[in-house]
Amino acid sequence: MEGTESLRNILDLERRKGYTDRAVIGGLDRYFHRHAEQLRELTKDPQLLEEFDALNLADSSYGSLDPEERRRWLADVTGWLERIERPVKEAVNGRRTQDRPARPTPVKKKPRVRAATGRRKRKEAELDAPITVIKGITPNVADRFAKLNVRVVHDLLRFFPRRYVDYSQTKPISELVEGEEQTVIGTIWEAKVATLGSRRGTEATIADETGTIRAVWFNQPYLAKSFRTNSRIVLAGSVGLFRGNKVFESPEWELLKDTELIHTGRLVPIYPLTQGLYPRQVRKWTKQAVDGYAWQLDDFLPADIKARCELLDLPEAIAQIHFPDDRATAVRARERLAFDELLLLQLGVLARKRDWKEGQPGNAFHVAPDIVSRFLGCLPFELTQAQERVLKEVLADITQPKAMSRLLQGEVGSGKTVIATLAVLIAAANGYQGAIMAPTEILAEQHFTNICGYLAQIGSEERHDEPGEGAVRTYTGFLPRPLTVALLIGSLGRSEKAGLQRKIAQGEVDIVIGTHALIQKEVEFSKLGLAVIDEQHRFGVLQRSALRQKGFNPHVLVMTATPIPRTMALTLYGDLDLSTIDELPPGRQVVKTKCVEVHDRAKAYTFLHRQVLNGRQAFIVCPLVEESETLEAKAATTEYERLSREVFPDLKLGLLHGQMPGSDKEQVMRHFRAGDFDILVSTSVVEVGIDVPRASVMLVEGAERFGLSQLHQFRGRVGRDKEQGYCMLIPEKLSPEARERLLLMEKVHDGFVLAEKDLEIRGPGEFFGTHQSGLPDLKLARLSDLESLQLTRQEAISLFQSDPTLKRAEHRLLRKQLSLVWSDSAEWS
Ligand code: ADP
Ligand code: MG
Repeated sequence: MEGTESLRNILDLERRKGYTDRAVIGGLDRYFHRHAEQLRELTKDPQLLEEFDALNLADSSYGSLDPEERRRWLADVTGWLERIERPVKEAVNGRRTQDRPARPTPVKKKPRVRAATGRRKRKEAELDAPITVIKGITPNVADRFAKLNVRVVHDLLRFFPRRYVDYSQTKPISELVEGEEQTVIGTIWEAKVATLGSRRGTEATIADETGTIRAVWFNQPYLAKSFRTNSRIVLAGSVGLFRGNKVFESPEWELLKDTELIHTGRLVPIYPLTQGLYPRQVRKWTKQAVDGYAWQLDDFLPADIKARCELLDLPEAIAQIHFPDDRATAVRARERLAFDELLLLQLGVLARKRDWKEGQPGNAFHVAPDIVSRFLGCLPFELTQAQERVLKEVLADITQPKAMSRLLQGEVGSGKTVIATLAVLIAAANGYQGAIMAPTEILAEQHFTNICGYLAQIGSEERHDEPGEGAVRTYTGFLPRPLTVALLIGSLGRSEKAGLQRKIAQGEVDIVIGTHALIQKEVEFSKLGLAVIDEQHRFGVLQRSALRQKGFNPHVLVMTATPIPRTMALTLYGDLDLSTIDELPPGRQVVKTKCVEVHDRAKAYTFLHRQVLNGRQAFIVCPLVEESETLEAKAATTEYERLSREVFPDLKLGLLHGQMPGSDKEQVMRHFRAGDFDILVSTSVVEVGIDVPRASVMLVEGAERFGLSQLHQFRGRVGRDKEQGYCMLIPEKLSPEARERLLLMEKVHDGFVLAEKDLEIRGPGEFFGTHQSGLPDLKLARLSDLESLQLTRQEAISLFQSDPTLKRAEHRLLRKQLSLVWSDSAEWS
C-alpha cells in the first residue's frame, strides 16, 4: 500500500458498487484489519490519531452493517483520509482549496473577559454556530448529533450526561481488589502489541510506588503506540484475575499531561449516544464546548432569585453538569438547570392563566364554622391529617374573591369525596349551586348515594323519586332552608331530564351530581358557584371548561386518583393549584400483590375460584393491545368465552370492553356491582373509581404491557372494605427488566412512588407527551418533584406580581428566554 492512494481507490470503488462489500476480495473488513496499523502511521497529528482510533479499523465490522450504516461509516473513513491528505496538498498548492467539503475551523478561545459593547450579536452567533466549529466534529459526526437534536454549540452545551461513573478515587496499586471498579495513577513501564486470545491487542505494565499491574486492551493493538515508556497514565475500570495475577481488562485510560482529566480520575460523564458516536470523542467535544463557550451564556435568572434559592450561575452549572468537581456540585448543577426548566414552564403557564382570568372576579364564600363542624361531626370517622390539610386549602381558596382552580390528587380510597362534598355544601350555604361531574353513571350514582348518606345523618330526608323528577332528595335541618340534591345522568327519561333541567335553571336544586349530561347545552344553572370534576383525566380540557362556563367564573375543584403522569401534566397545563392527600385512612390494608409465572396460571385460577366460593368477586383484565381497541375487544371476548367454558363453568362471568356502547358498559358494571356476576372479564377500560365492595381479586394478564401506575389503579379496584384484597400479575413474556418492574408492584404500594418509577423507566418525554401538550421540553426537571414545582411556582408568582410582563431591565433576558422555550407552543405569543 502506498500512502493513501490505494485506500482511496478502494473506497471509491466500494461506493460505486453501492456498498455491497465487493471492492476487495475477501471483504473490506479483512483489508482494514490488515492495514490499520499502516494507515495509522500516516499521521502524527494527535487529533487525527484519536479520530482514527475511534474508527477502529483494526476491528471493523463493515460486513455486518446495513447499507446506510456502511455509507456513513465509509464517509467517516474518507473524511479522515481527506484530512490527513490536506496538509500535504496545502503545502504543495500553497493555498486552501475551495471546493472541499466544509472543514471545521478551529475556534480560537476567547479571552475570559466580557467586553461590554458590541458583543451581544457576536456571542449569539457563536453559541448558535453549527457544532462543526468544534475541533474534530465533521459534517458526518454532525449528522449523527442531529439525530440527538444537537445542532448548534448551544445544543451541545445542553446535551447533558445521563449519569457519571466515579473514577475520582484513586488507589495505590498494591491495594487494588479483584472484581471492583477502581482507578490508579502510574507510570508506563512497558507497552507492546500482544496476542490476546486469538486477536491482537495491547498489553502494558503500569507501576506506582506500591507495585505493578498488568493492563490489557483487546483488539486495540494500535494503543501500544500511544503508550510511551515512562509516560504517566490513569487507568480506570474493573480489575480481574488472570493466572492468579490482577489485571485491568480494557480499562478506560488517559495519559496524564498538564490538561484536565476527562476520561478518568474524576466523575466521568456518560452521555446518551447514538450509532457512530464514541464516548471518548463526545467527552472531548463537550469539554471543548464547555471551555470555549459556556462562559458566553447569558444568565437569565434574576440575581435575587439566584441568591434566595441558592442557585449556581448558569455558566457554572453548565460546566459542572458536564464535568463536575464532585457529586455534591453535580447535584447543585442539576438543581439549577432543573429550576430553570420548571420556572420557565411555570411562567408560561401563569401567563396563560393570567390571560383568561384577568379582570374576572370570583365569588367569595363565607365559611360558617358551624356548618363545617356539623358536617364533620356526622361522619362516622375522623378526617386524616392529610384530609384536614387539604380541606383548609380548599376552604381558603373559596373565601377569596377570585375563582379557585385546584387539583386534588389522592390515592384511590384516600377520601377525596368528603372534601368535595363539604365544598359544595358551603356553596349551597352561600346561596349558590354546586355541581359534581363524574365520568360514568355508576360513579355519579355512587357519589349521589354517598353524599345523600352523609346528609341523611345531619338532617331529615325527603325523597321524591317519583316519575318525571329523576332522583331528587331534599334535606331539612342542615341549612335554614331545605337543601335539595339531584342526580342528572344521560339515561334519565326525556321528561325526567327536562323536569330536572327546569329545576336547576330555576335554582330549585342546590347540588347536582351527574355525568356529561351536566354540560349539555340544555342545562342552565341559575347560579353555579362551585364545580367539582371527579377523575378529571377522563375529561378533556374542553369538557372541563364547558362546566366552568355554566357559571359566572365558579370555583373549580378537579380530583384524580392517577397522580402522575397525566395529572402533573394537566396541573401545569390546566393552570391548577395542587393539593395532595398523601395518607390513607387508618386500617386500610395493602392489596397483596404477586407475580405469577405463566405455568402457574392454574394455581391462580384455583385461588380465585376459592375466593368466589367464599363470597368474593374477581376481575380478570386482559392484555393491552396498543393502538387497537377492536383487537383488544376481540381478545377479551375470546378469553371470556374460554374462561366461561373451560375454567369456570360453574361461575357467572361478565364481559366488559371498550367497543360496547356506553349504556351496555354501565349495565355490566351495575350487574357486577350488584353481585350478578362472580367474575368480570375486562379490557383495560375497567372503571377507575368504581366501588365494588365484595371484589377481592384482581388478576391481570399480560401485566408487563401496562405501566406501573395503571397496574396500581387496577389493584385499587379490590380490597375496598375490611377484607384482604389480592392482585395477581401474569406476564406474557418476562424479560429481566419486566420482571424487575413487576416485582416493584409486590413491594411498593405508594402510587406516587410507582408513578415516579414509571417515569424513570419510560422517561419524561414519552411519559408526559410534553411535545403534544405544547409544553416546553424538560430534560432534567421531574414533574413528580412536588417540592421543586412548588418552589418554582412561588418564584414565578412573585415575579409576576412584581413585574407582570417582565418589562423591567433586570428581567429582559428572562423574557427573551421565556419566548424561546415557549416558541413552539401556540399558546405563548
Ligand atoms: P376516593 O379518594 O378514592 O374518591 P372516597 O372518597 O370514595 O375515596 O373514600 C373511600 C372510602 O373511605 C369511603 O367509603 C369513605 O367514606 C371512606 N373514608 C373517607 N375518609 C375517611 C377517613 N378519614 N377515615 C375512614 N374512612 C374514610
Ligand atoms: Mg373517588
